[in-house]
Amino acid sequence: MRIVVKVGTSTLAYSTGNLNIRHMEIMCKVLSDIKNAGYEVILVSSGAVGMGMGKLSLNKRPQELALKQAAAAVGQCELMYTYDKLFSEYNHTVAQILVTAEDINDKSRRENFINTVHKLIELGALPIINENDSIATSELVIGDNDTLAAIVAKSINADLLIVLSDIDGLFTADPHKNPDAKLISKVNEITPAIKAIAGGVGSKVGTGGMITKIKAAEISVQSGCDMIIANGMNPEILYDIIDGKDIGTRFIGEKKK
Ligand code: GLU
Repeated sequence: MRIVVKVGTSTLAYSTGNLNIRHMEIMCKVLSDIKNAGYEVILVSSGAVGMGMGKLSLNKRPQELALKQAAAAVGQCELMYTYDKLFSEYNHTVAQILVTAEDINDKSRRENFINTVHKLIELGALPIINENDSIATSELVIGDNDTLAAIVAKSINADLLIVLSDIDGLFTADPHKNPDAKLISKVNEITPAIKAIAGGVGSKVGTGGMITKIKAAEISVQSGCDMIIANGMNPEILYDIIDGKDIGTRFIGEKKK
């Protein structure tokens, strides 16, 4: 089984941009264990800009393009250094792939990307993918890693896409504002009503929100891959997902209906 896991900045870093050591340690341990159990794991990780913020002592997410790109260049190093260190403890080899929208849109570059990911999986390495934020231009940008993760899942025929977020899943209303909001555990079809309730829920350090997750779910389910939105605050939740427990919100891939 091939699983793409997307982890957002809100799981990896505090709102200060500093590393959330506890989350990262648990997540790398659990992913290593899942890989040991025989699953193929591909990680789509945000955090470059967020961690660059922390390292450069910027007190808010940069708006200016050049500053954002510089922060990403610094933060991506920190991110991969941390992944390399933590996964090495469990004998796993990480590999960084940074992509831009052009790499996805251009047929031969996309094929190269897919071939590299396949080769890394074959070699037993753990591909860690992010958008190349230091190079991507504001006109031509994938823009959020929910979409990137769905594109990756689709491109490599993943069986499951797990999007770890700072929320339990998709709710009937914004749970921060409405205490009666209920978790929707299964979505068979992404209807306009589902899109409407996704609203504009976002986070302080990442760029995603529920809307980008629904867009990602559309890409994923159209390619036949189930997508689950789950809370990354306890990365051990990944075990429950692998065990088939009813966690978060599951969008059902089209061919499986
Ligand atoms: N690629 C961005 C980063 O690493 C994150 C995009 C997102 O939050 O979805 O900071």
